[in-house]
Amino acid sequence: MLLSFSMAVAGSRVAAQTNQANSAEDSVSAPIRDVRYDVTFTKAHAQAKLVEVAMTFSTTGTAPVVLSLPAWTPGAYEITNYARWLTAFTATADGRALSWDKLDYDTWRIRPGGAKAIKVSFRYVADSLDNAIAWAKPDFLLLNGTNVFLFPEGQPLEYTATVEIHTESDWRVATGMSSAGQSRTYSASTYHDLVDMPFFIGKFDLDSARVSDKWIRYATYPAGAVTSSVRQAAWDQLKKVIPPEVAVFGEVPWDAYTVMQIVDSSFMGASGLEHQNSHVDVLSPQYVGSEFQPSLYAHEIFHSWNVKRLRPAEMWPYRYSRPQPTPLLWVSEGITDYYADLAEVRGGVVDAKGFFGLTAEKINEVMAAAPVALQDASLNTWVHPIDGTEFIYYPKGSLAGFLLDIMIRDASDNKRSLDDVMRGLYQSAYKQGKGFTSMDWWNAVSAAANGKSFAAFDAAYIDGRDPFPWDTVLPLAGLRIKQERVPRLGVTTQQDPAGIVVRDIAPGSSAARAGVRPGDYLVSIGDIAVDDQQFGARMRAKYGASVEGAPLAIKVRRGGETLTLQGVLQFAPGEVMIEPDPSAGPKAMMIRDGILKGAVGK
Ligand SMILES: [Zn+2]
Repeated sequence: MLLSFSMAVAGSRVAAQTNQANSAEDSVSAPIRDVRYDVTFTKAHAQAKLVEVAMTFSTTGTAPVVLSLPAWTPGAYEITNYARWLTAFTATADGRALSWDKLDYDTWRIRPGGAKAIKVSFRYVADSLDNAIAWAKPDFLLLNGTNVFLFPEGQPLEYTATVEIHTESDWRVATGMSSAGQSRTYSASTYHDLVDMPFFIGKFDLDSARVSDKWIRYATYPAGAVTSSVRQAAWDQLKKVIPPEVAVFGEVPWDAYTVMQIVDSSFMGASGLEHQNSHVDVLSPQYVGSEFQPSLYAHEIFHSWNVKRLRPAEMWPYRYSRPQPTPLLWVSEGITDYYADLAEVRGGVVDAKGFFGLTAEKINEVMAAAPVALQDASLNTWVHPIDGTEFIYYPKGSLAGFLLDIMIRDASDNKRSLDDVMRGLYQSAYKQGKGFTSMDWWNAVSAAANGKSFAAFDAAYIDGRDPFPWDTVLPLAGLRIKQERVPRLGVTTQQDPAGIVVRDIAPGSSAARAGVRPGDYLVSIGDIAVDDQQFGARMRAKYGASVEGAPLAIKVRRGGETLTLQGVLQFAPGEVMIEPDPSAGPKAMMIRDGILKGAVGK
């Protein structure tokens, strides 16, 4: 998942609810087979913001069938309880009503009474614009499988299922599901796949292109929202960011990939939710074609390897009824975000300077937040902490990936990189049908770095809260931090018809020490007129390199007089920037170049 900052602040999700009283997870359903789901969404349904869902299956014996609806969608790490939008539940066999009751808030117990073929039906209210929930418009539906596809409690989820979509003949259907032969009929070989392939149903733009020898489909709602040069730019970004990601793992894991994008002015910010062969983006209009857009695509598509396939052991397999916290979410999300930046620079969406800018932005974001260990931030996300660290594992995890990449390259003479860790774990964990543990992770990092131990690094920066060691690690990649100093007077001012008047003075500030008073009109500071359009730039140019405490003349108008007060220069720390170090040696330059180009060796 990826959220823009404004979305992170203005999130509209329902409150997290992580303690599940009265769980039905202990009850075991009678086995079911021949599972089929019918989803009906016509113009009439669209007007009512409703979806009609029917599930049919067969069972043997008379034991109750216990069906549950997921509480969350993998990738959206919060409990949403999709059952809240379900209404008008019925269970029938040959048109005859069957007895049923509820075992808990998202679990239904049906008594077959000897019936072999059972049909369960309900209506689903689709009124929430969120990439993990169902959302209807008069000509459109976003539907996630987790919203509506019931599963048998306590039974294996490795069952095949068919889905048929019933909709208007001139409306489209887009999904990552495989066609089952007939039109608008799809199949999945496991429940995990079934609920990982959301649907667009209705009127939307759709086109496709070959990228890395596979089909990419680009579905955008509403029709006409992303056209001509903006659509061309989106395609250009997709074609640039995907190949560098393929190069990390050495294989494309999908036959076709569908980018599903909704643009709507009621949505604040931009948000993406990943799946194994698709992702769903929801954007407010100003994000379309923005600099954030390629970053969002690159992030979500990288997830098709990292988290949808290579996944922390705590989430293997997915359990849909309860939270699955992992201390490794910084790898799944943060390192995905590092690779989004790498895909942008390796694919040519941004240049080296742009990449350093993206990285510096993350450093500034982390410096502004309360110190929190990456492991803790990973676990915390399920309760959405309100202290400003809720999504800090994205930028901070990304920076941890950057540090590890540099250290691995340094320890291996640039023969190996973080790419080897990702590719190695993809083979040793995912391809072996399991998740990876913290021990797997650090062993892989250490192996890539010629056996170097990362225990101290882990203790200080991943399990610990120490500030990241930029001063020692960046030089290994021929880079350095540059932090601007901004001359600061220490006053708040207001413009009035007579000029710029001082309102407040910070204690101990340059202005306070010079004797500036509230009500003074500022005339000039260090001979630079305060009404100069270029005031800030001129101050930085004249004093940026001066020493703290150097004399600074402050000219003010007080009553009828103009006074020159004797102040001293003070600085406030400005934004951090990253820049190439001109004195970098050949090895450091090779490492820097290797990161930017996705290369190892000389
Ligand atoms: Zn993500």
